[in-house]
Amino acid sequence: MLLAEIISVGTELLFGEIVDSNAAFLARELGARGVILHRKTVLGDNLGRVSEAVKVALSRADLVILGGGLGPTDDDLTRESIADALGETPAEDPALLAWLEGLYAARGREMPQINRKQTWLIPSAEALPNPVGTAPGWFVRTGGKFVVALPGPPREMQRMWREQVLPRLPLPDHALVSTTIHTQGIGESNVAELLAGLTQKANPSVGTYARKTGVDVRVAASAGTEAEARALLAPVLETVRAALSRWTWGEDAQTLAGALGTALSGRSLGVIEAGSAGGLCSLLADEPGFLDAAVTQDHARLITLGLTPVTLRDAGLVSEAAALELAAGAREHLGADVGLAVVVGVTGEHAGQAYAAIENEKGRKAVGINWPGDAAQVRERAAVTALALAYR
Ligand code: ATP
Ligand code: MG
Repeated sequence: MLLAEIISVGTELLFGEIVDSNAAFLARELGARGVILHRKTVLGDNLGRVSEAVKVALSRADLVILGGGLGPTDDDLTRESIADALGETPAEDPALLAWLEGLYAARGREMPQINRKQTWLIPSAEALPNPVGTAPGWFVRTGGKFVVALPGPPREMQRMWREQVLPRLPLPDHALVSTTIHTQGIGESNVAELLAGLTQKANPSVGTYARKTGVDVRVAASAGTEAEARALLAPVLETVRAALSRWTWGEDAQTLAGALGTALSGRSLGVIEAGSAGGLCSLLADEPGFLDAAVTQDHARLITLGLTPVTLRDAGLVSEAAALELAAGAREHLGADVGLAVVVGVTGEHAGQAYAAIENEKGRKAVGINWPGDAAQVRERAAVTALALAYR
């Protein structure tokens, strides 16, 4: 088992001016290869703190990956920090110097003196060629452990990770397989309750993630071979599928609109939206069956589209009855096979309330939703709920 830590170096990362997407990339890469990531650290450009972090990380982990701080300027201190942590002295490497001078010469320029430190190595470090930049990386072998230094620019970091670092690491025999189940209309806590007993296990693991389209449940298993991993995954995946079938709208790369397309199977769809500012239409933009839509909050116009004055007076626009009348109206007045309607309250007494309804040749159904949130969140959730209703 290989234990890893990531140290991201850069004052701009520490202060949040840029987001540490490199660490996110590396975390996914490590996880997919069976390396256990224990910790991520973000530090500013400070020799003492980075050096200390390398020492501590090496006392806990087998693999320490540093990102950033390999440039030529005074605040690029990763090389110095690793040398300090290991008690080694950096020296210019003639081969790297020739390579870097050649890089500049090819552009008709002389190498600035400050770039010389990019040609440094310590005795325990091997240079990692950088095919797209001026900063070589380091691959350090020390006491059976590894320290890797990669440049900060993501394009350089990712390429060097794949081409230079991975082949040098003693990676465990490992296959990771996973399936993500997409649900809608059930909260994350309720999902967790339904799956109680499964979410605590490490392999297969079951994780829940709240997304805009509903709660996703990811079931993952790892083993020495893919066949073994699939065999481990299968029974747990079946249990999760069965527990969530009432709320499931798709798996893995399926999208909500795509799943709706399948459910429509060639029939046309008409949409009426009141209060959701076209949110449902924008989710349906690529759906071939999507025929026509009316997006309006105007009561008189909604009455021409099927809303009855009686319902408007007695139940109000933000009501199940109004949503059902407008779903029928979408079929009749927009000439569609399937009518979908959503009515959303974003201000006043109905703020946070919404109803979605669908009507097709077989019948009709509606759901009501009531969430706290700002207007944009309420509109978005209402649109997603309406979409999910269409094939549940
Ligand atoms: P350079 O030779 O470009 O100076 P470097 O190794 O010194 O490379 P940094 O100076 O730390 O790298 O970062 C260069 C740029 O790379 C940053 O300005 C930023 O745009 C990007 N970058 C650095 N670290 C990260 C990170 N952890 N996640 C995403 N982008 C990063
Ligand atoms: Mg730099």
